[in-house]
Amino acid sequence: MTRAGTRTERQEYLEGGLEELACERCAAVVRVRKSSPQQTSVQWSTAAVRQCTTPLGALVPRCPALHASIDDAVRAGRLDIP
Ligand SMILES: [Zn+2]
Repeated sequence: MTRAGTRTERQEYLEGGLEELACERCAAVVRVRKSSPQQTSVQWSTAAVRQCTTPLGALVPRCPALHASIDDAVRAGRLDIP
């Protein structure tokens, strides 16, 4: 029983359990959902895509710092994992 049951103070996104998360490096705000410990869905807004470092030609926006931020949030219990 390691589940802390900590509810984030942020508004809960009832549409699929999405949580807002800001990239620590570029401050782009994306919506993140962990469907399992291994699976992360990231929803990029247009502004976030522009703000975050995106390698040219990449089909999916990627930012290493953002993924590190997601891992941190999971460790800190700020993202709910079913
Ligand atoms: Zn970023």
